[in-house]
Amino acid sequence: MMNTPLLINHLFDYSMQASPNKEIVTRTTSGSFRYTYADFGRRTRQLSSALAQLGVQRGERVGTFAWNDHRHLEAYFAIPCMGAVLHTINIRLFPDQIAYIINHAEDRVLLVDPSLLPVLESIRDRLTSVQAYVVFGEAADVPETTLSPVYAYEELLRAAKLDFAYPTDLDENAPMGMCYTSATTGNPKGVVYTHRGIYLHSMALGLANTIGLSEADTAMPIVPMFHANAWGLPFAAVWFGAKIVFPGSAPTPSALLDLMADEGVTLAAGVPTVWLGILRELEQRPQPLKLSKALCGGSAAPKALIRAYEEKYGITFMHAYGMTETSPLATVARLKSRHMDLPFEQRLDFRSTQGYLVPGLEMRLVGDQGDIPWDGQQFGELLLRGPWIADSYYNDERSKDTFVDGWLHTGDVVTIDSEGFVRLVDRTKDLVKSGGEWISSVDLENALMAHPAVFEAAVVGVPHPKWHERPLAFVVLKNAAQATPKTELLDFLRDRFSKWWIPDDVIFLSEVPKTSVGKFMKRTLREQYRDYWMSADEES
Ligand code: ADP
Repeated sequence: MMNTPLLINHLFDYSMQASPNKEIVTRTTSGSFRYTYADFGRRTRQLSSALAQLGVQRGERVGTFAWNDHRHLEAYFAIPCMGAVLHTINIRLFPDQIAYIINHAEDRVLLVDPSLLPVLESIRDRLTSVQAYVVFGEAADVPETTLSPVYAYEELLRAAKLDFAYPTDLDENAPMGMCYTSATTGNPKGVVYTHRGIYLHSMALGLANTIGLSEADTAMPIVPMFHANAWGLPFAAVWFGAKIVFPGSAPTPSALLDLMADEGVTLAAGVPTVWLGILRELEQRPQPLKLSKALCGGSAAPKALIRAYEEKYGITFMHAYGMTETSPLATVARLKSRHMDLPFEQRLDFRSTQGYLVPGLEMRLVGDQGDIPWDGQQFGELLLRGPWIADSYYNDERSKDTFVDGWLHTGDVVTIDSEGFVRLVDRTKDLVKSGGEWISSVDLENALMAHPAVFEAAVVGVPHPKWHERPLAFVVLKNAAQATPKTELLDFLRDRFSKWWIPDDVIFLSEVPKTSVGKFMKRTLREQYRDYWMSADEES
């Protein structure tokens, strides 16, 4: 067989030939911007040319600091196709972390949304590698800034060559992208993606056995383009020629819902907190939607959330699991043919697992004594390997703790059943250890979020003088004006769990603190309530 290299360039060229007239839309402050794939292709090539003019060489990193929009998409292809490395920077990190990752990746040029310039200005003096800032927009959109040198994106593109030639000798194993993932302690860790990895991952997104993304879809990545490449959707959507809809800057649930309705979105992707927000909006303001696939991952989707989309709105809820290190798609909860005739509740049980492995990958379930049987009961750590799984962190000593003997140790505690359905019990660091037994914070949260009065719930283990740790529940009510007694919530759990699993207290919050990618920030809660039982004990 021919050994043709698996390159992002192929995705781009194929798409230009197959889908020149398909549409790409971005929500803007003044309405929407739309153009065709052919326009996108022309501008992408111009961007590569402009970056080459700025001195970007093969293998060098170009950072993006931006929302989900069409210019960011141009960067997604222009940078890898010229042989450089697309480093998507999380705009919601602390300035210290942003400075660290830009310096650690040695970004040479940064592409920045004008609204985000102040963040970069605040760390300007600490950036050691950046030689140019390119601001998304026309010269008139570039605000007065202390950054230098600064270029307006549109001006650079106008001056750039239309016939910039991409290199023809790129190696499929060469880096094409980078993304930093948060670490429990210390600085974020860099994951490097290769052309080959992202090519195969994109192909996997199109399989009917996974999410089945196709030309017929209108795809909307709500998940930020700095969060594991918006789960790879931009690459796959362009390749397959789907219409793409970008939510633009700071989208609210209401804006997202309107956009889905107006543009006929069929597939959208976001973390559970995003889907919760959209659901709340949809319940208040019903809209005719074409949405047939709600792709949800990043943290465990509560069963109540899946039920609402499936039962009330007839939208297939695709619960998927992955990590920045896994490109990210690793498992998807699709029903198998034998499940189709099962009663709704049983189907829901499968839909709310993390699903089964995407073809192309391998997994293991491992405990202290080695491999554990796949019986759906015994739990251990999930190990993964495959062509779109990272094999190390970029220039980071911590690699050896996570990548062992050719396997990625996910740090996720799961069960796997005899048909390969993975059920996440907890992240290792979130499991609650009470009196020598493990309690799953995820199971308790899911159960609490099934209570009709509960909007969000987080459960964390808090140090306890007698039991080592005890679970403490944090609840955001749907309607704060209608107080729900703690006892009612705890009784609700009592019907479902053994006595010792029941949290010892419920604390009502107006909002659960969230991470930069919208997950519950359990670490903050744990730190804030570290002395909760200790001080209670002293007082008693
Ligand atoms: P961070 O560590 O910054 O959250 P990632 O986005 O890479 O970065 O997070 C990966 C982790 O998110 C996984 O290890 C897992 O704990 C969690 N996760 C991802 N998808 C799911 C899911 N569907 N259900 C439960 N947990 C999930």
